Amino acid sequence: MPISEDQWFIMNLKPSIHGLLPEELEAFCKQNGQPAFRAKQIFDWLYGKFVPSFDEMKNLPAPLRALLAEHYSFQALEKLEVSGEKGETQKLLFKLSDKEMIETVIIPAPRRGTNTVCVSSQVGCVYGCAFCASGQKGVIRNLTAGEIVGEVMEVARQLGERPNNVVFMGIGEPFDNYDAVMKSVRILNHPDGLNIGARKITVSTCGVVPGIERLAEEGLQVELSVSLHAPDNETRSKTMPVNETWPLAELMDACANYTEKTNRIITFEYTLIKDLNDSPEQARELVQLLRRFPCRVNLIPLSPVEEFDGERPDSETMQIFFQTLEKAHINTTLRDSKGSNLKAACGQLRSRRS
Ligand code: SAH
Repeated sequence: MPISEDQWFIMNLKPSIHGLLPEELEAFCKQNGQPAFRAKQIFDWLYGKFVPSFDEMKNLPAPLRALLAEHYSFQALEKLEVSGEKGETQKLLFKLSDKEMIETVIIPAPRRGTNTVCVSSQVGCVYGCAFCASGQKGVIRNLTAGEIVGEVMEVARQLGERPNNVVFMGIGEPFDNYDAVMKSVRILNHPDGLNIGARKITVSTCGVVPGIERLAEEGLQVELSVSLHAPDNETRSKTMPVNETWPLAELMDACANYTEKTNRIITFEYTLIKDLNDSPEQARELVQLLRRFPCRVNLIPLSPVEEFDGERPDSETMQIFFQTLEKAHINTTLRDSKGSNLKAACGQLRSRRS
């Protein structure tokens, strides 16, 4: 039976069960006179069997199920819409318990037989990159770890299996919501949970230097992507206000330190925009900028967004840019962002119905 708006709201004033690490669940069990192994059982129902409610946790005593329901909400998100066909890129629109909305994207790779979930980490975004629809109205609030894990679980339920990769490339700046994002990473990565390998989880930042510095100290094997989009400060500041706070010199120092400390290779995202950042000269400048340490570059043709008056370059220009990097032995991909017919491509996600 569908639940009414008011019921939905009241139910979700409680914290989400999906925001707990196993040790927290264990502490909850102990505090309530339950053996610690119950936590493992609950985790298995949540992440092994994807049950949609406490009632279905059949091997738990009824009083424990009632206690859990009293303290925790189950579904922090309500699925309002699914666009796109099964087996292709799909976009899910969710309503949160305070009625804010976010979007999540499923990107299947049929040849590899894998599914990637692109999750949002905030409602809106404070950084306001000119070409990105997600931040045009500023940030409204951070998502909780339970809401972020909830996005992945909704996808798992829809697919009937655990997704293989998670990328924090939906709405929001993950490093502006650092603690909740890291907690969600630990829950998703936990062997008793979805057990998604840290290397299958990518956190993408527009260049928030303190976040890069903190991540370098985490001892986590997650992938880091940095949205660069220009090889010089003047061009970068035209579309990315974040560059005024952390200009390229600081950003590149942080990236170099990160690489040295973690031995992990950063992927730089570079959205190609006609006559702005796509010239052969700029490709050569990019090579110079990235010479200091090993890295990868992901070139993405601009996806159209209403608010930004820019175009993607023609394919020859993009090929020349690509080859300039390749010739300099920078591992580069030129890929089309999936899902632009659904407004589900990079930079097209919004915190409202489109
Ligand atoms: N805030 C983080 C996470 C968002 S990831 C970050 O900036 O990295 C989304 C990626 O899509 C970023 O690399 C972003 O710069 C890029 N992007 C945004 N708008 C785009 C557009 N219109 N076309 C192509 N890529 C875009």
